[in-house]
Amino acid sequence: MIYLDYQATTPLAPEAREAMLRWLDGPESGNFGNPHSAHRLGRQAEAAVEVARERVAALFPPGGRVVFTGSATEALNLALRGCAPVRAGRPIAVSAIEHAAVLDTARDLPAETFILPVDSAGLVDPDIALPDEVGVVAVMQVNNEIGTIQRVGELYSRAKAAGALFVCDAVQAAGKVPIAEADLIAISAHKFYGPKGIGALWVRDGVDLRPLITGGGQEHGLRSGTLSPALCSGMGAAAQLAFDRMEADAAHVGTLWNRARELFADWQLNGHAEQRWKGNLNIRREGLDVSRLISDLRQVMISAGSACASGSGRPSHVLAAIGLRPDQSRGSIRLGFGRYTIVEQLEAAAEMINHAAAQQG
Ligand code: PLP
Repeated sequence: MIYLDYQATTPLAPEAREAMLRWLDGPESGNFGNPHSAHRLGRQAEAAVEVARERVAALFPPGGRVVFTGSATEALNLALRGCAPVRAGRPIAVSAIEHAAVLDTARDLPAETFILPVDSAGLVDPDIALPDEVGVVAVMQVNNEIGTIQRVGELYSRAKAAGALFVCDAVQAAGKVPIAEADLIAISAHKFYGPKGIGALWVRDGVDLRPLITGGGQEHGLRSGTLSPALCSGMGAAAQLAFDRMEADAAHVGTLWNRARELFADWQLNGHAEQRWKGNLNIRREGLDVSRLISDLRQVMISAGSACASGSGRPSHVLAAIGLRPDQSRGSIRLGFGRYTIVEQLEAAAEMINHAAAQQG
């Protein structure tokens, strides 16, 4: 099996697994405390959670705090729904290529939603006109389908100048590139070699946010519920590793990208050729039936568009937003590679993919 779907999820780093194991031990270990209990067992668990929080915080700009959540989807819901009551009635502007966690949440809010268009490479123009009285602007840093990296710094300044809060989905950026400035930033551990089931929302100091989940008042009252020391420790270890290895990982991915471009020289690239995360190769071929290709490729795990879009059978809104016709969108595949991919796997996969595509005539 060759796994080339790193945007859907990444394998757990052995270091993250190791950090988690201690907190999964049995009754004799004393490592099962509730991190919110006042006794020694609880305080030990709390200390582990706080070490993890610091490690995760190192991925973000200074001047804010990390709130652990169950996923990035939850973090984005907290950001958009939690600040919305405060900014009641004012419009929300989101890019056309946001993940469903942002798009569907924005559409579900009572406020009017404006969609910010992108160009053929997937970029929002930083000089774009924002709606009058805009209350919230949400633009992601790295797109999950096409890998394009937005000029988030410029968009943040523009949102500030318009008096809006800026929300950034940095799920595909975290641990790979330095996270850009924003007011509220969502990340997910399983996209940077951490465990599934935990994400975080970074909240800039001074931003007024209301909880979605109320109860015991954990996470400064922003997200009630008992934290899992195992998941927090796994996310913390993965964050520390990604921080330490950021340059090495990017260099490795750059080498894989160069080879992949040679191996798929006959295919057209979707997304920006340079301003992108190079662990994401989204390519298309005229007349290709991707569903058939994926079912023919039993040994290679790739995706059509985004994992969510392919799972639901919905055509990709991202490929449509960059101007692809439905048939071009249906002929597009996404290859995702990263830290544990080796060149030989990419070469073997390319041979199988190119062969299966050629069979289609
Ligand atoms: N945002 C982006 C860009 C993603 O790629 C994903 C996951 O596919 C999410 C949000 C949702 O993350 P999670 O799986 O933690 O809910």
